[in-house]
Amino acid sequence: MTETAFRNLPSVDRLVADPRVAAELGGLPRHRLVELAREELAAARAAIAAGNPAPDYESLLQAIIRRGLGLMILSLRRVINATGVIIHTNLGRAPLSRAARAAIEAVAAGYSNLEFDLETGERGHRHAHLEELLVRVTGAEAGFAVNNNASAVLLGLMTLGHGREVIVSRGQAVEIGGGFRIPDVLRQSGARLVEVGTTNRTYLQDYETAIGPETAAILRVHRSNFRIVGFTTEPEVAELADLAHRRGIVLLDDLGSGCLIDTTRFGLPKEPLIQESIAAGADLVFFSGDKLLGGPQAGIIVGRRELVERLRRHPLARAVRIDKLCLAGLAATLTHYLKDEALTEIPVWWMIARSADEVRARAAAWADQLAGFAPVDVVPVKSAVGGGSLPGETLPSFALAVRPRNGDVVGLARRLRLRTPPVVGRVEADQLLLDPRTVLPEDEEDLLGALRQALSG
Ligand SMILES: *Cc1c(COP(=O)(O)O)cnc(C)c1O
Repeated sequence: MTETAFRNLPSVDRLVADPRVAAELGGLPRHRLVELAREELAAARAAIAAGNPAPDYESLLQAIIRRGLGLMILSLRRVINATGVIIHTNLGRAPLSRAARAAIEAVAAGYSNLEFDLETGERGHRHAHLEELLVRVTGAEAGFAVNNNASAVLLGLMTLGHGREVIVSRGQAVEIGGGFRIPDVLRQSGARLVEVGTTNRTYLQDYETAIGPETAAILRVHRSNFRIVGFTTEPEVAELADLAHRRGIVLLDDLGSGCLIDTTRFGLPKEPLIQESIAAGADLVFFSGDKLLGGPQAGIIVGRRELVERLRRHPLARAVRIDKLCLAGLAATLTHYLKDEALTEIPVWWMIARSADEVRARAAAWADQLAGFAPVDVVPVKSAVGGGSLPGETLPSFALAVRPRNGDVVGLARRLRLRTPPVVGRVEADQLLLDPRTVLPEDEEDLLGALRQALSG
């Protein structure tokens, strides 16, 4: 019985020679097809040996085609974000501006003056492309960028705190995002963490009494993904800077979100601004490139020239250096701030700046276009800024609420995720919510087309 099942399995050659394989997987060379066929046959033999029925020819063939097609579409691809979370870490954080994308494309397509001085024809510096922009938009003396903010903070602590003490408030010795824990980062850097104060209250005096001959720095960490509310106290940046400078140490400020625009203009609470921290006397400020700054992944370090140069020269700086594509995109993003055009050109700021009425009008237009496909509605929701900024705060918004006729809202959400491009919404009770705030206007047609098909299918 089992013997017959083994013997009845088709040969690799027969499967690979099937014209449907050529039709569907023409882009793959023969040796890859053979590989897939062998793997499927091996799985079939294992199934038979385990006492399961042998797959028939058709299912073997379809399995090969399915896996071949899966290999050829790129796993990482564009997604339409209709969740209403603007800086969505799982969906790639900040979408880039047109200018940033063009700058990346230009540098990616060929050679560039990455480390070449066009004036002299000699070796140049990759950090030269960014420094003046950073200085102008933040007001700092100097600045440069590395791979991400976690590496920026690590580089700062290693350069300035290795073998010495760094003082952190207990309310700031926190974990931010996946696995970035301040006590662990400090340990990795070779600095000794000196915790002061309590979770909710830390006074200037607490810092002052902790400073000793071994102290290198005070580190402030922005609590970017949670809030402590109620009975709380923390010294201002200016007070800490003043204390640090009186005692001959430095103040490091990990601000994370990279905010350069006053968020209170949009009815949000205040997110700390880079330029204010610099103006208040922080010696170095660290922030991400792909949160509220609205650019590609990067970690940016701005502050006093002498310190910036020490960080740049540390051996770790080479290990965490920024790549040319992110550098190109980051410089183009900073140019929007230079030209005071961030609110119109940088997608995350364009999204933050949309009023609830504008979002409602878009949701209503979507509802019109989908009438007849399913019961749809426009409902009030809250959009979140997300991604390590303004924790717990939301923007009043509106969403298209879709209730599929068969009642299977989870199934609808899944079908939308499995489309090209995938559409990601939010399931709430018996409806799928799609928030126009985070959908770029150029993605609207794709989103509506996907919805029509998913609702008809
Ligand atoms: C997000 C964040 C980090 C980590 O930044 P990455 O760019 O994701 O590496 C570190 N510190 C703070 C305060 C943050 O908000």
